[in-house]
Amino acid sequence: MLLKKEKGQLIVLSGPSGVGKSTVIAELLGQRPDIYFSVSYTTRKPRVGEQNGVNYNFVSREEFERMIADDELLEHAEYVNNYYGTSMKAIQDRLDAGIDVLLDIEVQGAAKVKARCPKALFIFIIPPSFEELSRRLHNRNTDSEEVIQGRLSKARTEFKEIPNYDYLVINDKVANAVNEIESILTAAACKVENRSKILTQFT
Ligand code: 5GP
Repeated sequence: MLLKKEKGQLIVLSGPSGVGKSTVIAELLGQRPDIYFSVSYTTRKPRVGEQNGVNYNFVSREEFERMIADDELLEHAEYVNNYYGTSMKAIQDRLDAGIDVLLDIEVQGAAKVKARCPKALFIFIIPPSFEELSRRLHNRNTDSEEVIQGRLSKARTEFKEIPNYDYLVINDKVANAVNEIESILTAAACKVENRSKILTQFT
């Protein structure tokens, strides 16, 4: 018997630029369409192929600062001169309806979520090695050497935050990383505290 959850699970995923997070997330959501992916707000310009409302909600700096002032964001951070943030209402409504919500956010934002929602699952994705991360960034063929070096040095700073996460997923192959994340989600769903509804029959 599948019981509807009382409350959805908040899942926070972080990882350095170039680790393949978007591919892993797309694959995970393909297998778990019941998970709601939180579309962030950002002041950065859309990249080729990105759609407003799908990849991000693209807003002006003025609009973002209004959202901060009106306390509409669960968390926000400034990353490479642009704001990124998570709408509180969009995720709260889903969690209350028993729907799991996935956030793809960087480390400062994740720390803010941890302070406000300590029961969220914090997952960090790493590449199999630092050399592999460098290789992947070079293979993208989209950035200058200077930008790539900037991303690599940012990655080193981000890796220092790994001890604040609950789980470390290695993206050697996308299918393996997705499997690891699904295992984490299954284990979390089996926690006694998350099965309180069914438990009432036995206690
Ligand atoms: P990109 O510009 O490459 O799409 O994203 C840059 C970084 O911002 C990534 O590490 C991504 O996880 C992070 N990010 C995306 N949305 C949010 C958000 O709502 N809040 C925070 N704190 N970081 C975000």
